[in-house]
Amino acid sequence: MSGRLWDLAIVGAGPAGTAAALGALRARPDLAVLLLDRADFPRDKACGDGIAPHVMDLLAGVGVTGLMDDQVPVGTLRLERGAVTVSRDMARAAWVVPREVFDARLVEAAVEAGAVLRRRRVREIEVRDDHVVLDGALRARVVVGADGAHSVVREAVGLGDGRRALALRGYAPTPEGRRGEQVIVFGTSRQPSYAWSFDRGDGLANVGYGEVLTADREPPTRRLLLDRLEELLPGATRDGTGWRGHHLPLSSHRWPHPGGRVLLAGDAAGLINPLTGEGIYYAVATGLLAGRTAAEVRHGPGASYRREVRALLGRHLQHTALAARLATTGTVLEAGMRAAAREQRVFADLVELGLGRGRITPAVLRGLAGSVLGMPNQAEGSS
Ligand SMILES: Cc1cc2nc3c(=O)[nH]c(=O)nc-3n(C[C@H](O)[C@H](O)[C@H](O)COP(=O)(O)OP(=O)(O)OC[C@H]3O[C@@H](n4cnc5c(N)ncnc54)[C@H](O)[C@@H]3O)c2cc1C
Repeated sequence: MSGRLWDLAIVGAGPAGTAAALGALRARPDLAVLLLDRADFPRDKACGDGIAPHVMDLLAGVGVTGLMDDQVPVGTLRLERGAVTVSRDMARAAWVVPREVFDARLVEAAVEAGAVLRRRRVREIEVRDDHVVLDGALRARVVVGADGAHSVVREAVGLGDGRRALALRGYAPTPEGRRGEQVIVFGTSRQPSYAWSFDRGDGLANVGYGEVLTADREPPTRRLLLDRLEELLPGATRDGTGWRGHHLPLSSHRWPHPGGRVLLAGDAAGLINPLTGEGIYYAVATGLLAGRTAAEVRHGPGASYRREVRALLGRHLQHTALAARLATTGTVLEAGMRAAAREQRVFADLVELGLGRGRITPAVLRGLAGSVLGMPNQAEGSS
């Protein structure tokens, strides 16, 4: 087979894939970068649409700014479980932007930077000594698999699936009491699970419910997901539209990745925060690293990339895995929430753990111990 040899072909043009294109072209603007997606943009994607400010920091690092200029920031996060509640302002506001809007803007930025966008559903990946062939038709020196939770690229390099969650989201009018907030209500049955209502600031909220899939029970049906959402957040499904479900491949304390010339980023790399279901930050962070590595490392970019991702996220992934295991015990989760209600610092550290690359800090450990020993709650947060 002859034809053009692309420097980099990226499968999937979501946040991970577009970030890979931006990272590569920032490092080497002359690179021939092909960005493939099975869908035309704008396209919808099942998501809570919560976008952490950390994502915007990363994008600013590759010259992409102003994406949120016409959006309304959401400053308050409220967590509930049974009778325990904490509601506080986050250190920095987050955003709730439909992926139909956000992802199309990222694609536009990648194309502006020089990526060539083509519509194609990739089905076959063949790794040869000095290049990779996609569908027997396209050749690239390096391939980034950014094709999401059901990645064909991941399968082609022989990596299996880890733990998964399943979640359903829709859009519904934001009731008065949930305006200007991101609300998360943890389940007390079918754990780990939570329902959410994320106000978009335009009269509608992204509402949904998700739970971790476990071997000891049947996967939830669509009906069950909707019923659980309504049970945890009464009224959330009223006048809801656009219901759409999807799997979330959760990260673990390990992060396996092959050497070679195929790099995985975002959901395809099994990177969703097991505490919060946050995946856009990881997708953009690993996408940028994958793109930069593809541009800069000629031999065995996979091994360099693995080192870089582990340096960036390794400790954090260990801490989130531990925190997620502890949080399956309702008492630990509630102890953490009580500590966050007593102290802004604990709240801020937990937000970093859930939305960025934070760790279990001494303040969090002290707060947990204080909750277990029965310290009274202070007035600032609520509990
Ligand atoms: C219900 C739900 C709620 C969530 N809420 C949040 C949240 O509030 N905040 C957050 O940060 N994260 C959230 N997540 C996680 C987040 O949606 C993902 O982590 C994020 O989309 C990962 O980005 P990605 O680019 O890796 O994959 P995706 O966004 O899934 O993009 C993959 C792209 O690849 C394309 N593709 C797939 N297969 C092929 C193929 N064979 N050939 C070509 N193209 C292909 C798809 O069309 C798609 O455009 C949620 C997930 C779910 C399911």
